[in-house]
Amino acid sequence: MGKIVASDPSHERYKKLIQDTLERFPRDVKEKIEADLKKPIIFLISQNEYGAHDEGIIVLNTGKIDNEELCDNQIQYVIAHELTHFYLGQPPPMKPGMREQQETDVEQLLKKWGFTKNP
Ligand SMILES: [Zn+2]
Repeated sequence: MGKIVASDPSHERYKKLIQDTLERFPRDVKEKIEADLKKPIIFLISQNEYGAHDEGIIVLNTGKIDNEELCDNQIQYVIAHELTHFYLGQPPPMKPGMREQQETDVEQLLKKWGFTKNP
C-alpha cells in the first residue's frame, strides 16, 4: 500500500484506523486496494469535506474530523467511503448527476460490506 503521510499529531491514531478499516473490507477488495494504492494517503487540516479522492490519492481532513469529534466508527466510515471511490476507479465527475451516481454506488457497497455511519 502507498505510504501514509502526515504531519499531524494524531497520525498514529489515523494510521491504525486506516488499517482497521481495511480489515473490514472483503478480502479481495482489501487486496486490490492495497495493491493499487501506490500514492500516499494525505492528511489535511483545512477543507470542507471529511475526505476526498482524486487520481488515486485519498485525502482525510483530520482538522474537520477532530473538530467535530467523530468517533472511531465514523472515521472508519469516512476512510471506507473514500477508499471505495478509489476501489471503483471513479473519474472526477464531469457531467450533471455523475457525482450523485458515484455517491450512490459507494453508499450501496458500503452498506453491503457492513459499514454504517453511526455506531
Ligand atoms: Zn463520496
